[in-house]
Order: sequence, then C-alpha cells, then structure tokens
Amino acid sequence: MLGFISHPACHDHDAGPMHPDTPDRLDAIGNQLIMSGLDFVLRHYDAPLATREQLLRAHDRAYLDRIFASAPTDGSVEIDGDTVMSPGTLAAALHAAGAGVLGVDLIMRAEANPVFCAVRPPGHHATHDTAMGFCLFNNIAVAAAHALAEYGFSRIAILDFDVHHGNGTEEIFHSDDRVLFCSTFQHPFYPFTGHESDATNLVDVPLPAGTDGAAFRAAVAEHWLPALDRFRPEFLFISAGFDAHLLDDMSSLALTEDDYRWLTRELVALANTHSSGRILSMLEGGYEPGALARSVVAHINALMG
Ligand SMILES: [Zn+2]
Repeated sequence: MLGFISHPACHDHDAGPMHPDTPDRLDAIGNQLIMSGLDFVLRHYDAPLATREQLLRAHDRAYLDRIFASAPTDGSVEIDGDTVMSPGTLAAALHAAGAGVLGVDLIMRAEANPVFCAVRPPGHHATHDTAMGFCLFNNIAVAAAHALAEYGFSRIAILDFDVHHGNGTEEIFHSDDRVLFCSTFQHPFYPFTGHESDATNLVDVPLPAGTDGAAFRAAVAEHWLPALDRFRPEFLFISAGFDAHLLDDMSSLALTEDDYRWLTRELVALANTHSSGRILSMLEGGYEPGALARSVVAHINALMG
C-alpha cells in the first residue's frame, strides 16, 4: 500500500502572488489523483511536525534558532532573495520535514511502502545553516538522517531529479560514506553547484539546456544506475522535483511524464533488488501545476508497480 503523506498546513505557506511555489501545486496534485482513480488506492496520512532533535540531525542549532525567531506573525519576511516566510510558513516547513520522518517509520513498521510526501516548501537547497531557493528545512535530508540514526542503516541512496542541483543535500551528506547522493540537473543553472566536488559519495550529472528525455535516460543509465548497483543501497530516498518538465517555464529541459515513469520504474527495480523495496519519495520543485500533477501521478503509478 502506498502511503501518501501531506498536511493542510502546507497550503498556508504564502510566498507571495508572484512566487512560483504556490499552494495550487498541492491542489493540482490532489485533483489529478482523484481524476486518475489513484486516490482511492492510496493510504493518506497527516504529516506530524518535525521535532527539534530530528531537525538537528541535518541543521545547525543556531540556524534553527534564527528561522524560528524570524517567523512573522503578520506580513512576510525575506530570508534570502527567493525564500520568504509568511505567518503560515514555519508550521508548513515543520510538517514538510516531519512528513519524511513519518514516512520512514511507516516503511520500517511495514505499514506502508513506498511512500510519497506531497509537501511544501521544498527542501533540497537548504544547507546545514542556510535557507535558499524556496527551502528552509532540508526535508529529504531530515528523513534520510532519521533512517540512519533510528534504524542503523549503513548504505542509503538519495536520488534527486529536480532540475536544480540538490546543493543542500549534497552539502549535508558530503563525504558521508553511508550516503550515496545522485543528482541530475540543468547546468549551468541555479544554484551553480554540482561540478566542483570530487567526493566519492556524489554522482553529479549536469545536463545542458535543451536536454530531452532520450538524453536524460541515457545519462541516468550511464551514471546513476551502475553506481547504485555497486553501492547496493538499503533504502532509496527520492528528491522528486518535476521542474525539468517540457512545459515548466522554470527550466530549459524537456522531460515528460513518460521520462518520470521510466526513471521511477528503474528505481523501483533497483529497490526490489537491493533495498527490500524500501522507497520514500519527497516532492521538491515543479511549478506548472498541470504538468506537475500529471507527472506526480505517473511517478506514483510507477512507484506502485
Ligand atoms: Zn527545482
């Protein structure tokens, strides 16, 4: 049974009318799940709030204090150039980070697997001590760190196919040999990272503007899949951003639902071989609501096999 984790509070993060990360994204996903008939075969869960202890596994203590102290009671506060806090943001971000923690626990208790977390704000740009790129807490890192700390895994993989390089996740797990981090991303492009490190636990795959599905699949098959087979991860975590979609104005890549379906099937096969099927997927980007919703449904369909 696929566990679908979200929380109404994730709607209440208001980054402003011109900001791409709108609550409509989650509404579009919810509606598409109902129209596709998938909604009735999922098990829905409400994300809990992440605890301070869980956040501290990925973030600096002084950074957490700063974010909590910055939370406005009205109006909005700019944390960096494109990361904004409204009165609803802190709760949304805490539920977004808590979603992955619950997801790991559900999988480990054999209550649900795989798990998809439909949350916002996204997380993969948030570093140990810096908010950036719409992200406050690194949701996938908090989830992966929970799996490492609570369940004693020695090999987990994080696969990030958002169009932007997952610089925050990479920084948090840099040179941590328990974690293999694989990222595909448009390059050169925000946040202009992912090409400068020679750490052995990173598989960074920069893709030029204009990359289509065929070239994307070839790059994944050449770089990600052999590295994952060698690493034999015990748990797969996915930073599932859908902003490399052809219809998403955020980027200049040209992926479609079929490419997300193909990639997800490859990852499911890998999880079945190495990870007892354990997969937790977390929404990152994806800013054209229709394309996002159809891509998430293709992704969830493939996760369910
Ligand atoms: Zn992105």
